[in-house]
Amino acid sequence: MEEDLIRLKAELILGGSVRIPKDWKIPVRISRSTAGPGAGSRAIVLRFNDLRVKKSISTDEGEFDLVPYEGGIRLEKDGRTLIDEVEIEPVIYHSPGQAFFNLDQSCEFHCLFCNSPLLGVEVTKGLTPEKIADMVAEASEREDFVSIALTSGVVGGVEATVERMARTVELIKERVPWAPVGVEPYVNDPEQIYRLRDAGADEIKINVESADSVIFSIVCPDLDYNNLHEMIEIAVEVFGRGKVSSNIIVGLGESDEAIIAEVEHLAEMGCVAGLRPLKVNELNRLALEEALGSLRQPSPERLIRLGEEQKRILDEHGLDTRTFSTMCFECRCCDLVPFRDF
Ligand code: SF4
Ligand code: SF4
Repeated sequence: MEEDLIRLKAELILGGSVRIPKDWKIPVRISRSTAGPGAGSRAIVLRFNDLRVKKSISTDEGEFDLVPYEGGIRLEKDGRTLIDEVEIEPVIYHSPGQAFFNLDQSCEFHCLFCNSPLLGVEVTKGLTPEKIADMVAEASEREDFVSIALTSGVVGGVEATVERMARTVELIKERVPWAPVGVEPYVNDPEQIYRLRDAGADEIKINVESADSVIFSIVCPDLDYNNLHEMIEIAVEVFGRGKVSSNIIVGLGESDEAIIAEVEHLAEMGCVAGLRPLKVNELNRLALEEALGSLRQPSPERLIRLGEEQKRILDEHGLDTRTFSTMCFECRCCDLVPFRDF
């Protein structure tokens, strides 16, 4: 992939929303995310040169402009064309190719960067395991269907949340046994990992969130850093190398060295780290700045530099993002994904 296209993807990931014409009818399903960096906003997936990026959209304002013309759509910034021809890629639920559900957007924990529990819209209301299994079965008929993914806030305790997720996996596997299922739980006991595997989950993501343990204790006051690492080690034994991933947020004030060391540490355990740029917005800004001071958004260059290090480390440990067919590595909408994007 050409360097300037990767830089453009990084710029889009980090940049603001996309303005669309008021009278324009978007030709695909609109995604309203309840998790991930764009949580809460209406968003579409832009595809260009085999790269994808999910962007929130607005008819009033935006850093970028989508300009439909006869026979195509181009992306502009300040009247300058960035991409001559972009496609709008449909999502199944939340992600292209995936039926990705957030079982519960509320959460008993208080991670300062997390928008999910702060959303006014109750998108996950009424989403029972049975209903999700029905929706997955229907979605699996689509030609572009690849896989299923489940995430959840912690509600009623960690144990009960994992049990709800495991039950959902079981119901899905009864209906669509051939499709890979990825789960993104918070776990604090090895039994929960076994339970999810026994339910039929194929891939698991256990997020360490920050590469710096001091920053972690500030931004995730209810979570246990050492225990998370122990859970990842056990998850690799249970799910296998190349089937366990973990998000590291870039931009919480940590150094590049800390990120590189954490990617290496996880790779030594057989876990593939994903690097997720922090998105500061009106929902999380105050809490983050009170705790950490003013934050500097990572630059495209920092993301590219760290992505190259991530790729080198994964390669040295015989790991690859292409061993996953669910969640963010498969989706590619919010990060630079080594081996897939570059
Ligand atoms: S555990 Fe933290 S990151 Fe996960 S949903 Fe709850 S508040 Fe958000
Ligand atoms: S990359 Fe991950 S967080 Fe972003 S849209 Fe895709 S599945 Fe959601």
